Amino acid sequence: MTLPVVAIVGRPNVGKSTLFNRIAGERIAIVEDKPGITRDRIYSKGDWSGRDFHLIDTGGLEFDQKDEVIQHIRQQAELAVEEADVILFVVDGREGVTATDQEVARMLHRSNKPVILAVNKLDHIKHHEEVYDFYQLGFDEPIAVSSIHGTGTGDVLDAVVNHLPDREEEEYDEDTIRVSVIGRPNVGKSSLVNKILGEERVIVSPVAGTTRDAIDTPLQHQDQDYVLIDTAGMRKRGKVYESTEKYSVLRALKAIERSDVVIVLIDGARGIAEQDKRIAGVAHEAGRAVLFVVNKWDAVDKDDQTMNRFRREIRDHFSFMNYAPIVFTSALTGQRVHRVLPLVKEVAEQHAMRISTSVLNQVLQDATMSTPPPSVKGRRGKIQYGTQVAVKPPTFVLFVNDPELIHFSYQRYLENELREAFGFEGTPIRIYLRKRK
Ligand code: GDP
Ligand code: GDP
Repeated sequence: MTLPVVAIVGRPNVGKSTLFNRIAGERIAIVEDKPGITRDRIYSKGDWSGRDFHLIDTGGLEFDQKDEVIQHIRQQAELAVEEADVILFVVDGREGVTATDQEVARMLHRSNKPVILAVNKLDHIKHHEEVYDFYQLGFDEPIAVSSIHGTGTGDVLDAVVNHLPDREEEEYDEDTIRVSVIGRPNVGKSSLVNKILGEERVIVSPVAGTTRDAIDTPLQHQDQDYVLIDTAGMRKRGKVYESTEKYSVLRALKAIERSDVVIVLIDGARGIAEQDKRIAGVAHEAGRAVLFVVNKWDAVDKDDQTMNRFRREIRDHFSFMNYAPIVFTSALTGQRVHRVLPLVKEVAEQHAMRISTSVLNQVLQDATMSTPPPSVKGRRGKIQYGTQVAVKPPTFVLFVNDPELIHFSYQRYLENELREAFGFEGTPIRIYLRKRK
C-alpha cells in the first residue's frame, strides 16, 4: 500500500527543517543510530492520529547550485505539486508576507492540491495575530506555529491528516509478487525492464480493468504473477527529475513502499554510488526483500577475479544487507537477465516464509545452549520462548527475562542462527524483545 506524501515547501530560513524535525520526532534519531545506514534528513515517516505518511522537506533537496533562490523554490514547489498528496506551506510570521511567498502561493493554487499554511516563528501568544496578514495568500485558516517550541504543530498535523486521501485498498492479490526496479538515472532500469518484458516465456498481461494504476505492468512467468511497480515512472524524464539525483530517491521511496521485492540496480561500469546505499537502506528499513543486480556487465573490463571483487565491494558497502543475493547482468546483450525473475520469486518466498513455533523454539534453544547471552553485571539474559508474529518481512518476538540483558550483538548472533537454520535469503528479518511478566 502506498503511504501518502506530505511535502514541506517555503522560502529558506522560514523554519522548514525545524518543523520537519519536530514532526518527524525521534524517528530520525533512531534510524541514524543503526550502524551502516546513512540517511538524509529530507524525508521521514510521520504519523498522527493513526495515519502514517511520508514527510518530505523539499528545502533539503539539492538542486542545481547555480540557481537563484527563487528558481530553487520554484523547483521545490513543482516537485511538491507533482508528488505530494498534501502540501505544507511554511512562512515566517515575523517577516510578514513577502513577494516570494506570493509567488509560491500562486503556484500552489494552480495545483489544486490541499495546502496547509503554517505561519511559523510565532513563539508567543501575543504574536498570534500576525497570522491575519497571511489570509491574503488565499488558503483556509493559516495556523500559528512555533516549531522551536512545538506549539501549533498538533493543529498543523490535524489539518494535514484531515486532507490525506482515503486509505487505498490492496491493489493486487496476495499471490502476486510486486517488484520495483530502483537505481540511479541511467543505470539501465528501463533497459532491464524492457528486456525482461521481451523474454520468451514472459507473458505481459494487457492492462486489466481492475488495475487502476496503469503505470504498473502485470506479467506472468512460469505460472507466477508479478507486477512491475511504477514502470512508467522510471522512464519519466522531466526538468526536475534530471536536475537532482536526490529526487530519484523520493520517486523510489513510493515505489519501494508498494513492493514486496526491490531490485537495487547498480551500474557495473561506474561502481557503487552513495545514492545506491541510500536506496538500499530505505528498502531494508521498509522491510522489503532485496535483490542486487549489477548491470552493464558487458561494459566492464574483466578478469577472472572481477566478479568476486565486485561482490566483496557490495558486501562491504551494504554490510547491513548481507542477505541479499547478487546477480550480474547486461540489459544490452541480455546476459543473465533470465535469472532475474526466478531470483525475485525465490526471495519473495523467503520474505513470506512462516516458521512454526515449535521448530523456531528448537532452533532458539540450540542457539542459546551453544552460546548463552553473556552476563551483564552478574545477571544473565534468558530467552524463554519466541514466536513469529508477521511475514513480509519475517518478524519474531522473543520473550525474555529482561530485554536490557540481550545486547545488539547477541541479537545479531540470533539473527545469524535463524538464517543458518531457515535461510531467509534476500529478506531482512526483525527481532523484538519483550519482557515476560
Ligand atoms: P529552513 O531553511 O526553512 O529549513 O529553516 P530552518 O529550519 O533551518 O530554520 C531557520 C532558522 O529559523 C533557524 O535559526 C531556526 O532556529 C529558526 N527557527 C525555526 N523555527 C523557529 C520558530 O518557531 N521560532 C523561532 N524564533 N525561530 C525559529
Ligand atoms: P535508466 O535511466 O536507469 O532507465 O537507464 P536506461 O535504461 O535509460 O539506460 C541508460 C543508458 O544505458 C542507455 O543508453 C542504455 O542503452 C544504456 N544501457 C542500459 N543497460 C546497459 C547494459 O547492460 N550495458 C550497456 N553497455 N549499456 C546499457
